[in-house]
Amino acid sequence: MTRPVVDDRATAPACHACAGTDLTRVRLALPDGRPAVFASCAGCETTAWYVLGGDGTPLGPDGSPRTLD
Ligand SMILES: [Zn+2]
Repeated sequence: MTRPVVDDRATAPACHACAGTDLTRVRLALPDGRPAVFASCAGCETTAWYVLGGDGTPLGPDGSPRTLD
């Protein structure tokens, strides 16, 4: 196993809910095949997906935009 050379902090810089930066980031693919970073926040336990090379919008597990509530 080798670590990806891309810094995923650029894709998932901070939690969309609490703005915390202590995220666990895992490179995965969305169900539609888009490569993405799954981020889990250590502060508030929120999770979100961020498309690699996307616009930084936090997505839910089905790939649709996640909204703050
Ligand atoms: Zn958070």
